[in-house]
Amino acid sequence: MTLVYLDNNATTMTAPEVVDAMLPYFSNKYGNPSSIYDMAHSANDAVKKSREIIADFLGAADSKEIIFTSCGSESANMAIKGALDVKKNKKHIITTRVEHPCVLNLYKDLEKRGYRVTWVDVDSNGDLDISRLLEAVCEDTALVSVMMANNETGVVYPVDKISEAVKMKNPETKVFVDAVQAAGKVPINVKDTKIDMLGISGHKFHAPKGVGALYIRTGTMISPLIVGGHQERGKRAGTENVPYIVAMARAAQLAKETLEDENTRVKALRDKLEKGILSNIKNAVLNSKSKNRVPNTTNIGFQYIEGELILLHMNDEGICASSGSACTSGSLEPSHVLRAQGVPFTSLHGSIRFSLSRYTTEQDIDYTLEKLPAIIDKLVKISPFQKELNEIFK
Ligand code: PLP
Repeated sequence: MTLVYLDNNATTMTAPEVVDAMLPYFSNKYGNPSSIYDMAHSANDAVKKSREIIADFLGAADSKEIIFTSCGSESANMAIKGALDVKKNKKHIITTRVEHPCVLNLYKDLEKRGYRVTWVDVDSNGDLDISRLLEAVCEDTALVSVMMANNETGVVYPVDKISEAVKMKNPETKVFVDAVQAAGKVPINVKDTKIDMLGISGHKFHAPKGVGALYIRTGTMISPLIVGGHQERGKRAGTENVPYIVAMARAAQLAKETLEDENTRVKALRDKLEKGILSNIKNAVLNSKSKNRVPNTTNIGFQYIEGELILLHMNDEGICASSGSACTSGSLEPSHVLRAQGVPFTSLHGSIRFSLSRYTTEQDIDYTLEKLPAIIDKLVKISPFQKELNEIFK
């Protein structure tokens, strides 16, 4: 049976080179990196080397600025809670309405605990109201938190410029960037920015699930989320997950090596898919028209039909995609990102995210373009909105 995987923003295949790199650390190199005997040195060396590779991947000035974590959610929680904890007198946070739930729900919780949160809007293309964001920065602002690329629409936010402008208004304000959907898709160079903390997650760029990293600029104080041993320079206790750290570093090397060529190829495939759908399916509308998008993502609404039904029919043809983010699919709550963009209810419930990777082929796109019109046609016929659909298809 054909399998076309177009859900790479949910997770990616672990690259074969990455599996090869990590395997020895389960068998003959299984030592604890904190142990002093020779046998453990290879584990210690591997963690050290991986830290240098991740520092290079993110453009950090010093590998000491990299802390290994278990996932993107942990990186975000560590940065946000840790930075706020050392600035207890400051109670204002600025963020966007389109952050991933691991950030969004944390701020909703902090709001209940007495923090004042400024939620910055996006326009119908998915672009951010940056002047509104900057206007909100004040003496009391402890943290500004903006994602680098949106997981549902792929829209890229100018976090470099935002970090500069925030620091001009208040040098004390810390800037956290959730770069989970940007890493491996756009170049990141933290040392040329004023970003204080930036989180990534390995499984979004062909490493396994269960490993991430947090960049913390030298001089940025945070209190640890996990307290215990002295690992990660006291910032994150717990024996290092050596095989997965090695895997993420290998994945970062591969992503960096292939970034430019693959971005051109993947973007051409994404554009072919997008144009093919929009020109062949009359009730299809592009949800985010922003010029600034990661090359692998498109989000398309199919008016007056149900997204979950589209996904199930696509699944029957072996095509994997997603409605909303991975964490919200499974519930029928429409996407908070598309709602923030003001996507009308007519296409909100029928919105599908297609996300490609360097393993996506032209055949995958052709197959999807061949199967999708018949799927949509079938669902259009059973939609309760026949009058409205007749208008679109006439
Ligand atoms: N941030 C963004 C933008 C994401 O897309 C995701 C996962 O989808 C996360 C954070 C959470 O990453 P993880 O699954 O590694 O916790």
